[in-house]
Amino acid sequence: MTSKYWSPVVSRLSPYTPGEQPKQKVIKLNTNESPYGPSPKALQAMRDACGDALRLYPSFTADRVRRVVSVNLGVAMDQVFVGNGSDEVLAHAFNAFFQQSRPLLFPDISYSFYPTYCGLYGIAFQSVPVTEDFRIEPDDYLPGGPHGPAGGIILPTPNAPTGRALSLAEIERIVAGNPQCAVVIDEAYVDFGAESAVPLTSKYDNLLVVQTLSKSRALAGLRVGFAVGSPELIEGLNRVKDSFNSYPVDSLAEIGAAAAIEDVEHFEKTRLAVMKTRDELDASLRKLGFEAPRSLTNFIFARHPGHDAVKLAAGLRERGILVRHFRLPRIDQYLRISIGTDDECALLVDALSELIA
Ligand SMILES: *Cc1c(COP(=O)(O)O)cnc(C)c1O
Repeated sequence: MTSKYWSPVVSRLSPYTPGEQPKQKVIKLNTNESPYGPSPKALQAMRDACGDALRLYPSFTADRVRRVVSVNLGVAMDQVFVGNGSDEVLAHAFNAFFQQSRPLLFPDISYSFYPTYCGLYGIAFQSVPVTEDFRIEPDDYLPGGPHGPAGGIILPTPNAPTGRALSLAEIERIVAGNPQCAVVIDEAYVDFGAESAVPLTSKYDNLLVVQTLSKSRALAGLRVGFAVGSPELIEGLNRVKDSFNSYPVDSLAEIGAAAAIEDVEHFEKTRLAVMKTRDELDASLRKLGFEAPRSLTNFIFARHPGHDAVKLAAGLRERGILVRHFRLPRIDQYLRISIGTDDECALLVDALSELIA
């Protein structure tokens, strides 16, 4: 569809397609939400905050969240930016840092929102093939590598949807090797076992690390994400935010997010439970003949050499189980399966055993 009223760029956009949110009751292993609820303390704090104070605008820099993040991660408050989900933080980062004369680099198999932002902001990009086993090769991102000096770099680590992570040393090699541009590390899944690049942010002015409360803190519905980086990158994000929407984080979200980050006990308990279930599901899938890169996330990216992924996904759907399939080159035989509860994963394994029998 198109319309004569649209700006030309709108006709050319290829918008991101989110995973389905079904109306009927299903086992939902398709959008990497947490199977466990958010921190009860965060829920109570938000209930308590439903009152007359909502007539006031919130803090325009989400100070309560920035303070808690700065304490939690050991960084200064002026190194923290908070947004309406990390997707918004990423969008502002693309706008603020990547509109350069040289192209942005990111992996060919990666978060499918990145090319969408490039379309929105008119950013030239070059996708860099990951290896056959889905590894990101740091040398490919260095100015002396195949693509020359980049105008910007964005990498999710662990990568989505492959689940593979870079080591901290590999991240540092990319950041240190590219002082000419901003490097954004998307750590949406870092709490499930990978190394975070946050400690490098005090050493490198060009590094921005983005995290979210949607996955490991079970607050996808609240829409809170944040970035940690040098004060000059944070100021760039603030300039873009204040040219778009000064109050992206509402008062309830600010209170809930801060309380969720402070509830370390609930966070540890739930993320460790997800990791345990993941490793057990990984073993069960291998027994059924599936192949998957070792995941450091809350999902497993798996294929079966003897069974078509589209048919498997359809068979699971008939049995009331949703998983994600991407109709994209190189990965169209894979299923991305979010980690559910132990019971949900057991039902998944039963269904898959039936389908491949
Ligand atoms: C889920 C996800 C996000 C977005 O998270 P929100 O904070 O919910 O917007 C960002 N990057 C990657 C790689 C993700 O998988």
